[in-house]
Amino acid sequence: MSNNPNYQRHPVTGVGGDILAWTRGAISHTERAAQTAASEGSPQWRIDDVLYAVRDAQQGLVVRTREDREASVSHIALHDPELVLRRCAADRQLLDLHGGRMHSCPAKDETGYLDEWTEFSHGEACPVVQNLAEVYGWTDHTDSRRTEGAQAPPSDGDQMT
Ligand SMILES: [Zn+2]
Repeated sequence: MSNNPNYQRHPVTGVGGDILAWTRGAISHTERAAQTAASEGSPQWRIDDVLYAVRDAQQGLVVRTREDREASVSHIALHDPELVLRRCAADRQLLDLHGGRMHSCPAKDETGYLDEWTEFSHGEACPVVQNLAEVYGWTDHTDSRRTEGAQAPPSDGDQMT
């Protein structure tokens, strides 16, 4: 193990609030949306080439569009609730492995040097945590205390209506 002196450290709690809590809330928010979508039919979606549409495994129409939006139909079908739920479960496991604990993982410093054993403390967000948070919309300017807006997912206790 080493402690790369040139690696720029990122605290778990900073100007934007708690990146771990925010990301857990974002994962739960995404998971609830996928569960709700799956409850309307089935979690597996596929392309209906005849109608330029997406159908679920029960043949229910999920979305239909124009002929010139075929790529959008493919994109929607590739992100069906089943995949999103698997992704959320995997992201939660990655966050549990890398967030809020002492560990080592690969990290590039400001010079581009990759240290495969960069040490992280309880209060630091390693690159895996930072990248997971960014996938869900976290930016350096995200304020996790906000209760409105696209960058502030509901907390774990909130229910979708
Ligand atoms: Zn890590």
